[in-house]
Amino acid sequence: MDKKEKVALENALTRRFFLAPAFEIYQGVAGLYDLGPCGAQIRQNLISQWRSHFVVNEDLQEVCCTCLVPEQVLIASGHVAKFADLMVKDTATGECYRADKIVEEQLQKRIDATTDAALKHELQTVFNQVDGLSQAETDKVITDYKITSEAGNPLSPCFPFNLMFQTTIGPSNPQKAYLRPETAQGIFMNFKRGFEQARGQLPFGIAQIGTAFRNEIAPRNGLLRVREFEQAEIEYFIKDRYESVKNFHEVKDMKVNLFSYQQQLNGEDYYHDITIGEAIEKKIINHEYLGYFIGRCQQFLVSVGLDVTKLRFRQHLPKQLAHYAKDCWDCDCMLYCGWTEIVGIADRSAYDLQVHSKASGTDMSAFVKYDTPVQKELFSAKAVMKILAKEFKQNAQALKQAIETASQEEYERISNELPTGKFTILGLQLSAESIQLVKAMQSVHGESITPIVIEPSFGIGRIIYSILEHSFYMRENDEMRTVFKFNPTIAPCKCAVISLMQKDELETVTTQLIRQLRKIGISCKSDDSGVQIGKKYARFDEIGIPYIVTVDFDSLTDKKVTLRERDSMAQIRIDIATINQTINDLVQGYVKFEELK
Ligand code: AMP
Repeated sequence: MDKKEKVALENALTRRFFLAPAFEIYQGVAGLYDLGPCGAQIRQNLISQWRSHFVVNEDLQEVCCTCLVPEQVLIASGHVAKFADLMVKDTATGECYRADKIVEEQLQKRIDATTDAALKHELQTVFNQVDGLSQAETDKVITDYKITSEAGNPLSPCFPFNLMFQTTIGPSNPQKAYLRPETAQGIFMNFKRGFEQARGQLPFGIAQIGTAFRNEIAPRNGLLRVREFEQAEIEYFIKDRYESVKNFHEVKDMKVNLFSYQQQLNGEDYYHDITIGEAIEKKIINHEYLGYFIGRCQQFLVSVGLDVTKLRFRQHLPKQLAHYAKDCWDCDCMLYCGWTEIVGIADRSAYDLQVHSKASGTDMSAFVKYDTPVQKELFSAKAVMKILAKEFKQNAQALKQAIETASQEEYERISNELPTGKFTILGLQLSAESIQLVKAMQSVHGESITPIVIEPSFGIGRIIYSILEHSFYMRENDEMRTVFKFNPTIAPCKCAVISLMQKDELETVTTQLIRQLRKIGISCKSDDSGVQIGKKYARFDEIGIPYIVTVDFDSLTDKKVTLRERDSMAQIRIDIATINQTINDLVQGYVKFEELK
């Protein structure tokens, strides 16, 4: 997309009210946007498609959790301490910038401007790493590469800025809380219930679509970096990241573009069109689960109209990983403003369940049954109540419980302490005679583990914006006529029915056709203004309506109408009696327009 097209796109989005700055009559607020009728309908269609692709096809449990999150949850998850971006200020004007973004912007300009191959390579290698640098390292890059503010002024040293919006709950003794910065935490809170619904079997997944809030330092680029946005997230709970994935064969031969972290560190180009199977074999992608979700993610993005040649999956540099992640691949989409992350696929390990289990005192483990029982040498213990009752009276029962249900690690520790004649449990010192600890071969049927979580996280707003950019074009030799080539599933409106001329006898047929199409759930627009038919077509193309039906005078006698396809502008005559079926088949993708000819 060039500058001229970008301007035309922005124009079309505003003129046809796809989206608008929120609270615009009060000058708006940076990073807050409202969707207009076309934008809202695209969002609805996108979400339906996501549900069908993931919730239905992966048989996920969809939940809907609250946006308000009490502080203790986000302290446990690490967000209060670590969910921050590095910020710098213009030392003259005080304007704030996200440190990595201002560095990247200025490096990119220099990369584009230089013809010196060695310098280009050096700048590109630094550029690739900026997002993962520490505070001190970022300051060093700012100094070494003389990065300034947009106004050309020196920048302050960088410092962390927490991205969460804080609030309080309740009128008296208000409890500190935050607006959720990701939908994931609500899912972790409900892990035990989800596991029960999955009849105690791993793997299983929980999905959630909902709003997340981040107080971005410098919101940019319309819907791409906003302060309130929608996420569609899956937390997929698994036993072992290296096990084979049931439906892996469905993505094994899919071709993807992959940008490994080693390639980024070495300033190399990314892998173009490598199969997921090969990437797993060569250990570019660490395990089948990541490969599987990379494949399913690409299938989804292409199904909603993104150009596959403008997608690549980029692995996070080890330093760039979020505090909870062990590995992560972002799906980057090529847009006017450059490669932009639209989906993140993270291996969050057992981090979240472990920290919440520890902080809340709730067991968040899963009992995993072995296929066949295995023989293992294990400890078992019995409390000697006669001694406990004498020494600890009312505490004796609790001590008995603790002694008889301790973990194998605890027994190992106790067994090491026993030769001293004493051991500790529940913080108390007990005599060695109060426990009978034996180690013997036992038949073991399974074990308790904390599941690992694989998290594909989709930004709905970013995907909507990517669809808009990838679908937009101007008719050849006519820059005034802009078109969105949305596929019918995503198109905000599926068809239009118009009369060739403003005549009552034609309008009667048009009205009847519109009514019957709407009755079967096909959104349908009309235009009874007096403008020429070409102008009407242009108005519909401008909001990406894929099919237009025109009623003319012949229709009154031959009972046929003209059906026009948006991108080819090809027209065919079809029977009025088959209109519902034909449009429905086209919209559902059961038949292609060319096949009708
Ligand atoms: P993250 O949890 O940072 O990996 O974000 C998951 C997804 O949410 C990203 O891939 C984006 O699509 C989306 N996202 C994150 N931050 C923003 C933002 N400020 N504005 C819009 N979308 C965002």
